[in-house]
Amino acid sequence: MSIISLGIVGGGQLGSLIATAAKKLRIKTVILCDDKNAPGKIFCDEFIYGGYEDKAILNLFLEKVDVITYEFENIPFETLNYLNNNKKVNPSPKINRIVQNRMYEKDFINKCNIRTTIYDQIKDKEQLKYSSNLIPGILKTCTMGYDGRGQHKINSVEDIDRLNIDFKIDYILEKMVNLKKEVSVIITRYGHQQYEIYEPIENLHEDQILKNSKIPADISEDLSQKAIDWAGTIAEELGYIGTMCVEYFIDQNDNLYVNEIAPRVHNSGHLTINAYNVSQFENHVRSICNLERIKLKKLSNAKMINLIGNDIKIYRNKKLNDGEFFYDYMKQEIKEKRKMGHLTILVN
Ligand code: ADP
Ligand code: MG
Repeated sequence: MSIISLGIVGGGQLGSLIATAAKKLRIKTVILCDDKNAPGKIFCDEFIYGGYEDKAILNLFLEKVDVITYEFENIPFETLNYLNNNKKVNPSPKINRIVQNRMYEKDFINKCNIRTTIYDQIKDKEQLKYSSNLIPGILKTCTMGYDGRGQHKINSVEDIDRLNIDFKIDYILEKMVNLKKEVSVIITRYGHQQYEIYEPIENLHEDQILKNSKIPADISEDLSQKAIDWAGTIAEELGYIGTMCVEYFIDQNDNLYVNEIAPRVHNSGHLTINAYNVSQFENHVRSICNLERIKLKKLSNAKMINLIGNDIKIYRNKKLNDGEFFYDYMKQEIKEKRKMGHLTILVN
């Protein structure tokens, strides 16, 4: 059966960019979102507004779509599972359940014999105070964090009393890595040992939010190959279908660690829209809709600049140079620390 209607849960910038890629492939898109002003409604064919736990809304969505995907990992498992019992959801809700919890995620990666930062689950303040082997470290909520939200830097035991930490939530404490660089690898898996992998992307974060990405990453051939191999192993072990991203840390001694897995298209891969023959979004749509897999070809080196908060205003009226591509996510309100759009620049 050829897929004619793709359901996307979530209508932020990632959902919008998936819808745009689907449109290019002549696939109809229906976005379901719990924010009635989500920008996705401008980019899709049909927009359904409603809560992710509302069965009537989910049933309405199910009626309109042939296959389903989602734009971010924080969608309740029950929602994805309910949808998956009726229409195929990719990536599988089972995978999302692992990856949406930092603790399960890191346990899983270590079971694959792949290095992560050292970490421990933190239940209460006392335990945190006795975790001095992990301090300086970063305390992160096990679930629901993104763009640095839900994180506290713990530089010393004294910090713990000073910070207002709500211990009703589960946390992990991760030892701080002395970072030399951060890179990510985006991979689209179509089936057993069938992948398209993009070359590692070098990422620069400011205040725990991605600021710039570029290819090629300035790392050794060895590290590059290892990052690619680990991404392949993780995708295969997860039985993943679709596009995913593995975020890595490289420390001052050139040790590679997996930071986290994003079970979805990823901000660092936005430059693939202009720098490759097939973008991470198109690859995602192709794999989940069972379309032809096209061998990846890099067209150009590139860098991507995230436009955060008021940065967007400058670009809304700016004339672009050759090789520059501006994307406005069309969010209704400009907020500080919020990703509003991005600029990709092709470089030789
Ligand atoms: P999010 O889910 O918000 O993206 P991350 O765990 O990826 O959370 O953290 C965001 C950023 O914070 C990372 O990309 C990195 O720059 C910094 N960071 C997070 N954990 C560590 C760590 N253990 N050591 C050093 N830097 C870290
Ligand atoms: Mg991250």
